[in-house]
Amino acid sequence: MQCELCGKEVNKLITVRIEGVEMQVCEECAKFGVSPKSYSRKPKRVLGRGAPQKKIIKKPRRDLFDNLKELVEDYGTIIKEARMKKGMDLKELAKRVGIKESTLHKIERNELEPEEKYVKRLEKELNISLYEEGDEEYKDNTSRDEFTLGDFIKVKRRK
Ligand SMILES: [Zn+2]
Repeated sequence: MQCELCGKEVNKLITVRIEGVEMQVCEECAKFGVSPKSYSRKPKRVLGRGAPQKKIIKKPRRDLFDNLKELVEDYGTIIKEARMKKGMDLKELAKRVGIKESTLHKIERNELEPEEKYVKRLEKELNISLYEEGDEEYKDNTSRDEFTLGDFIKVKRRK
């Protein structure tokens, strides 16, 4: 038998991995490689121990938070139209919401995104919705699927 690495004739060949390639080599050349057993065992051990810790950080909560707070694109127009329908002028609405008239003017021109607390007040004052409804989809992808399915089965059994 011949060593695949150095070409030496030997009685016993050892299977090793050298830079990812499996080879039949002599005892001396085996030092350069990794035996397939230890090669496949090592990564598994590391994965098993490392995985539970790493899993937690995978989906940042900030994503969901941001998503929920996404303003509709034409928030300014919506505010302005709703305000005019109510017969309110800029000054009055600004006073009710608690912001400067000039600030509200900028908001109505889509030049400035109002802070969350002001958005809530504007929504309340004007009976409008200024946040994107895209967050529903996100919820479906996380934990709600499981709950819905379980609930569905329960209801089915009862009937
Ligand atoms: Zn050899």
